Amino acid sequence: MGKVRYFLGIFLFSIVFLLGCEDGVNLFTPEDDVQLGLQLQSQIASNPKDYPILNNPDVTSYCQGIVDQIILSPKIKYRNTFKYQVTVIRNDNEVNAFAVPGGYIYVYTGLLKFIDNEATLAGVLAHEIAHCERRHATQRLTKAYGVGILLDIVLGKNPDKTVEIAANLLTGLAFLKNSRDDEYEADSYAYEYLKSTKWYPGALIFFFDKIKQNEGSSFLQVLLSTHPLSQDRIDKLNAKISADKLPPPTEDNLFSQKYQEFKKRIP
Ligand SMILES: [Zn+2]
Repeated sequence: MGKVRYFLGIFLFSIVFLLGCEDGVNLFTPEDDVQLGLQLQSQIASNPKDYPILNNPDVTSYCQGIVDQIILSPKIKYRNTFKYQVTVIRNDNEVNAFAVPGGYIYVYTGLLKFIDNEATLAGVLAHEIAHCERRHATQRLTKAYGVGILLDIVLGKNPDKTVEIAANLLTGLAFLKNSRDDEYEADSYAYEYLKSTKWYPGALIFFFDKIKQNEGSSFLQVLLSTHPLSQDRIDKLNAKISADKLPPPTEDNLFSQKYQEFKKRIP
């Protein structure tokens, strides 16, 4: 009896401790992220009305090639666990990109046509990779479920159910709405990932600038609802650039010309 109470005590303490840590609590495993991602990926694949997939190997492999280089960064933890696969969605009216757990990244032709150089695309893709690496979606699910799911998982009551419940919650992909803190974190990690690549690490700033120039445009509405852009985000990225004393970008790390050629090939 005493033993039971002892373990129960430790168990309850752990819960209080876990809930006390505001940041980074995630009751799902990276393998759960993969499972969730697979479910969402098939949901997206079977909904061509909302997600018309562009079947153009040239355009897709251009984007995939960038992702493949970013994930070589030593700061990437899940390159062997997550799939890190890019899918291009054919919709010029939406400037957007999103990621589902487990490394499935989606980018709209509207975004590809909106930006001006390859480094900016690398920045956007690195930002989406960061959402996967930091496992923001399952972290938010953890917060949303709180103690109930915590108990079920810790007690190992129903591991299959866990994934199922989460998948139901994800219906409509509403969970893709990122919090402000998730955005800061994804920007910051993206910057770090890009440091080990040939691209200018601060390139997301070009994306932010262009968004600001086009504020109020309908094609930015979804983007801004899933990836809130605040002046803080811009300031934080600029602060990193200054702290690192990054020299101003050049054609050698922006690849504008190469990108303009690529843009002509996007249907
Ligand atoms: Zn984001």
